[in-house]
Order: sequence, then structure tokens, then C-alpha cells
Amino acid sequence: MRMKPILFLNPVFVQRIWGGNRLRTQFGYDIPSENIGECWGVSAHANGDCVVREGIYEGAYLSTLWKEHPELFGNCDFEHFPLLTKIIDSTGSCSIQVHPDDAYAREHENGSLGKMECWYVLDCHEDTKLVLGHNAATREELAEMIHQGKWSEFIREVPVKKGDFIQIDAGTVHAITDGLMILETQQNSDITYRIYDYGRTENGKQRPMHVEQSIEVITVPALSEKECIKPALNLPVNCLNELISCEYYEVWKIEVEGSFAFGQDQLFLIMSIVDGAGSVNGHPVQKGDHFILPYEFGTVSLEGDMTIIASSVNKERA
Ligand code: ZN
Repeated sequence: MRMKPILFLNPVFVQRIWGGNRLRTQFGYDIPSENIGECWGVSAHANGDCVVREGIYEGAYLSTLWKEHPELFGNCDFEHFPLLTKIIDSTGSCSIQVHPDDAYAREHENGSLGKMECWYVLDCHEDTKLVLGHNAATREELAEMIHQGKWSEFIREVPVKKGDFIQIDAGTVHAITDGLMILETQQNSDITYRIYDYGRTENGKQRPMHVEQSIEVITVPALSEKECIKPALNLPVNCLNELISCEYYEVWKIEVEGSFAFGQDQLFLIMSIVDGAGSVNGHPVQKGDHFILPYEFGTVSLEGDMTIIASSVNKERA
């Protein structure tokens, strides 16, 4: 049987007002402008569809491969490529938001999917805090705090550090804050309800808020800090360290030191090199590379000194 190809992808870059320059200075991406807030490393989303960089599928969009070569992805049932991997570099505070779950989105957003996401903290300031959860004890209290704009009472800020892993279930209030650089793995959906935007304006206008939807979908009381954040620095080397297994995705961290080989037994496996350099089955890779190992790829041979965040869909749901 012919070896299945590694699908190396060209990322799509998205400029954001709050974006920084670490995607260039730390990740070495060749991007001319400042304020590049997001690098969509593995995406088949209509707003940023990655193209295969080399090999027999060179030039193909990921969305096209998904449709025309389902065998590369284990012939799973999803209509669209189900995940999206981004690196986000923030030098400001993003709007405070919440995502609905599948059931709510299906009913209220024309059959859309809800959204779960998780973040691996690549870099942050020493005193970085992110917005995660809220302090309302009941839905009545939640509605009152939001309607009356009692933001300092409402918002829960939690300290984070490099190497933390954060799971953001649907219904969890969250916001990226100044200094955070994260690798995000998310369901490929974009239904976001904005709760508060610090009163900021864009082109002289405030962006629309989704107050009533937010009050309906926010989990009350919020999950505890411990249920959402776990430290993931200094994990064992040369193994798949599971960071999360939820109904939509599984995410692992791999610290390669020397060499590490394992069997690719997922429907497909997304990999992002977030530090160092080395090779994958003989192909040189370095920090900033994103690729997919297809279905029945066989043995994955990693060599070098590098940190990888890998992900896939949860096989039970595909
Ligand atoms: Zn979000």
C-alpha cells in the first residue's frame, strides 16, 4: 500500500485591532503587517480555508479535500471539516463572550452547531489574567448584573501562566486579555454571543451585543477555576499526554526529545509544532508548522527537540 501523504498546510493570517507581532517575532511567519491577531493553522472555514503546501495535493483547499477525498479523514460523517486550530496573539482585551451548545444553536441559529473551544497558553505576561466564568449564583442574579452593567462584580478574572491548558465548554463566559498568546482548538463554528465590549466602538458604533441570548445560555453557577484550567508544563516526554477528551475533540501535548514513534489510530490527526524543530517521518518541521496525518497513516516517527499540540475529533461521534 502506498504511504498516505502528510498534509502540510499554509496558514491563513487574520488582522485584528488587538493583534500583536509575536506571530512574526516568535513564530517566524513571513507576514508584513503589524496587528496580525490570528493564524488559522488548520482550517476549512469559509472565512479562511487553508491550502496544502506541497505534495500530490499541493494547492488544494482543505475544504475541497474534505469533500473529494473523504478517505483521507476516515470517511467520517461530518458535513464540514469539524475542527479549527488557531494561534492567537493578543495585545488587548477581546469582548466578553459566550458560545451556545449544539441544542441551543440548532434551535435558535438556523441549525448551526454550538461551540466548544480549548486553549493552550503559549506565552503571556507574568501577571496575565483572563476572563473565565462569572460570579452570579443564580440566573436572576446573572440577569440583574448584566442588565445593570455591574461588570466588575459579574466578571471572574483568573491568573494564567505559560503552559496552562483551558477548556471552555459552551455556556462559559470568557475573554482573551492583553498579553495572551494561545493555541486554540475549537469546533468549526462561529456562533458567539457578545456580552460586554468595554463600551468600545468600531467605526463610531458599538458592536451589537447579545444580552438575552447570553443570559439564556450561560451556565449558572459557573464551573470552578479548577474544572477549567490545568497546568500542562513539564509533562512526560515522548508520549501522548492527553489534555482533554470531550464529545467534540481530543487534544494531546507531545514533548519530543530525541525520537518518539507511535501508531496513528485516529480518523485523522492534526499537529501543530509550537516549539523547537525536528522531523516527521523524515520531513523537516519547525515551530509554526501545521499539518494533518491522514487516516491509516501508520507509524508516526518524530525526531528532534520539539513541542507539539495534536488533536482529532472524538471517534465515538464521527
Ligand atoms: Zn470563544
